[in-house]
Amino acid sequence: MKVLVVGGGIVGLATAWALVRQGHDPVLFEQGPLPHEGGASYDQHRLIRLPYADQRGYCAMVIDALAAWDRLWDDLGETPYAEIGSLAVSTEENDWTDLSRVTLDALGLDYETFDAGDIHARYPFLTVPQEAWGLFNRRGGLLFADRIVESLIRYLRQRGVRLREETRIVSVDPAAGCVSLDDGSRESAEAIVVAAGAWTAKLFPELARRAVPHRQVVAYLEPPEHHAEAWAAAPAMVHLSNAADIYAAPPAEGSELKFGSGTHRRPGDPDSLESLGKDEAAAVAAAFRDVLRDFDDYTILRGRVCPYGVSPDERFVAERNGGVTVIGGCSGHMFKFGAVMGEELAKTATGERPFEAFRDWAEGRGGRLEED
Ligand SMILES: Cc1cc2nc3c(=O)[nH]c(=O)nc-3n(C[C@H](O)[C@H](O)[C@H](O)COP(=O)(O)OP(=O)(O)OC[C@H]3O[C@@H](n4cnc5c(N)ncnc54)[C@H](O)[C@@H]3O)c2cc1C
Repeated sequence: MKVLVVGGGIVGLATAWALVRQGHDPVLFEQGPLPHEGGASYDQHRLIRLPYADQRGYCAMVIDALAAWDRLWDDLGETPYAEIGSLAVSTEENDWTDLSRVTLDALGLDYETFDAGDIHARYPFLTVPQEAWGLFNRRGGLLFADRIVESLIRYLRQRGVRLREETRIVSVDPAAGCVSLDDGSRESAEAIVVAAGAWTAKLFPELARRAVPHRQVVAYLEPPEHHAEAWAAAPAMVHLSNAADIYAAPPAEGSELKFGSGTHRRPGDPDSLESLGKDEAAAVAAAFRDVLRDFDDYTILRGRVCPYGVSPDERFVAERNGGVTVIGGCSGHMFKFGAVMGEELAKTATGERPFEAFRDWAEGRGGRLEED
């Protein structure tokens, strides 16, 4: 079946990969170059982690996501993934990390817990209160996002998939089953998948409140020399404090130490994102002051601005109209699901999977895929 895919980020590229695997004929449109550095999917890394507070559906989805990444690595012939595990810190009953532990128990998934002394011994760069405890998951870690995106593009090109870069889709017509291109031409197919990231509401204004374009900043840092070795052996830090929504990607396989803060984001038009302010990287890093020993010894290397579409409850937005399937509102957590989302979108677009089941799963209301 011919399927048009709008968007060349991780979701669009993985959908094209899955369509090829399932014997279909995708044509992918990307308004920018490929890879598109101005999208949400192009950065040194994205985290994949099992803890998901009380969001059982997304926690279960991570297990299926890991299996889908393995299928992708087999096809790509490389593994741009470091399974370094993840650490989340709890300081109060029923906080994000504690709820994650309850969810892991409910799903029968393994984890280890560390007390504050263990945390300080294993991760001497951290400073946590005496009552804190850590939730460590062996599975999960760092997905090297830019390497994955580049490798997928190579894979699709080698298989003769039409990748139409620098081609903006200006409208989608579900009734006619076609898209209009910025040169005035139209292309039709039996099915269309729209994975337009922060640009979703530009094509579907009715989704403007459910997939709100945002601007986010991450900071790259160099740790002080006396903490460099410990950082290089550290897991992904997914929830370090209840006071600030902060996470860190440790350096691995040549990537750099990166800090992010969910609270730093703000709404912004992805076509005219304000460039990095002078002190913005420092402002992101400052959120780590209370959890890092020797914070003032870190060197800020640079910041990076990224666009993404955020849904108010952080559940992905899935919509269907005729033969058009839209996925949006990917918020700060879609990359980890890229491969499995591509597979499930491909099945849904081609009629192998009922849309309603896909939507429930994508909204984090399902379970493991084989149980759906
Ligand atoms: C700072 C930051 C940190 C994050 N950290 C994590 C993390 O640790 N773990 C995690 O799982 N997720 C994380 N995320 C979220 C994750 O990166 C995104 O959810 C994911 O990359 C979205 O992929 P996408 O393909 O939907 O969007 P994008 O990568 O933005 O791709 C959409 C593409 O569609 C193209 N496009 C849009 N409209 C059109 C059109 N009309 N015609 C043609 N092309 C079009 C765009 O140019 C763009 O290239 C983070 C996001 C950010 C910004």
